[in-house]
Amino acid sequence: MFIARTIAAVRQWRSEPAGSLAFVPTMGALHEGHLSLMRQAKQHADHVAASIFVNPTQFGPAEDFEQYPRPLERDLALCREQGLAMVFVPEADELYPPHVLPLQMDVPDLSHLLEGEHRPTHFAGVCRVVAKLFTIVQPDVAIFGQKDYQQQAIIRQMVQDLALPVQIITAPTIREPDGLAMSSRNVHLDATQRQHAIGLYKALQQAKQMIETMGETDPQTVEQAMDQVMQAHHLQVDYAAIRHPQTLQPLDAIAPDLTRGVVALVAARLGPVRLIDNMLIG
Ligand code: AMP
Repeated sequence: MFIARTIAAVRQWRSEPAGSLAFVPTMGALHEGHLSLMRQAKQHADHVAASIFVNPTQFGPAEDFEQYPRPLERDLALCREQGLAMVFVPEADELYPPHVLPLQMDVPDLSHLLEGEHRPTHFAGVCRVVAKLFTIVQPDVAIFGQKDYQQQAIIRQMVQDLALPVQIITAPTIREPDGLAMSSRNVHLDATQRQHAIGLYKALQQAKQMIETMGETDPQTVEQAMDQVMQAHHLQVDYAAIRHPQTLQPLDAIAPDLTRGVVALVAARLGPVRLIDNMLIG
């Protein structure tokens, strides 16, 4: 496995004839969710590459950039086990040289709602780093997790608008046995918070049951029920939303036949830890 620390090293590696390439961008602290993306990647190309980069531009000033876990040696061992061909591990200065003025880019129709309301600069940072990683690594295919539903929707739009020659694949969310979505941030939960964290998944299950089994068609009724489930688990709710699966806009009514289903999205805080999750319903 080739470990590239500079853009020049990736370009050199990529210039050698190699076949098709699938790419998995990550911020490291790898867990089974990331590894499932790498396994899926193997099915779409001859080789798989990943990046490990805690991207400062997607964190707000009061967010957990400094606290974000960085177990690099363990991560590289996991990448090796997965048979990756290359891992790009740049320093921040390599991707963002101090003399380069920042480019701003996002998809306002998708970036300013839901996560964007709570993290106003987040998706501009995501778009900038992903566009940059794509132009450096030049993959044929890139795999993103459904776990970050809004992120994959925005990246799909960015790739379309810039006509980037990268196929975007969205891979299912991998969960702990009790349903909690795997996340690098879960390591920061103490035992009590870990129990409460299950409230996000319970809220999504509640929405699924109300819509699919009970036939509920009023989005607000479902959203209120999701909110209550999370509050009962001592979660500080940022949002509990039923949205159109492509536009992420609110719906007047839940009519799965018309929208090809809905997406339920939740975000909540447990002390300093902020968690998100989602589920496609209908
Ligand atoms: P991150 O390291 O959190 O930036 O995530 C890197 C990629 O892994 C993103 O495409 C995430 O959506 C994806 N991912 C994170 N957690 C999970 C999970 N539990 N299941 C599937 N994919 C995930």
